[in-house]
Amino acid sequence: MSKTTCNKGDTFNVDSEVPCSGGYICVPCGDKKHFSEGEVFPRCSACIEKKGNPDKLRKGLGLWELLEPRDATHKCPECGLHYRDEQTAKTCQTWCAENHSCNLDIIKHSIEQETVHI
Ligand SMILES: [Zn+2]
Ligand SMILES: [Zn+2]
Repeated sequence: MSKTTCNKGDTFNVDSEVPCSGGYICVPCGDKKHFSEGEVFPRCSACIEKKGNPDKLRKGLGLWELLEPRDATHKCPECGLHYRDEQTAKTCQTWCAENHSCNLDIIKHSIEQETVHI
């Protein structure tokens, strides 16, 4: 099986398979979501709510663009959680190193937390 490469800016149709875990943005409406490898791109719920026209979405408006592959995330070396944002990862690292515990206000931004909520 050939491994699909995942590059920032690649676009994928609704109902196709997610090639790599990471952050995606809905092209028509700009809604950001995190998908994991092997999932199927869903129709964007925000688009359906805003436009209320599923026919339009079926005609190719449902498109997801890869914002950031999982590999490009930033990891806090102290607690091992991943963040999309380098600054947040650094904040977490500083906190973890100084307090030897995790700050809930920081780790709620981690990708691990997002995945749990989905
Ligand atoms: Zn959308
Ligand atoms: Zn940390």
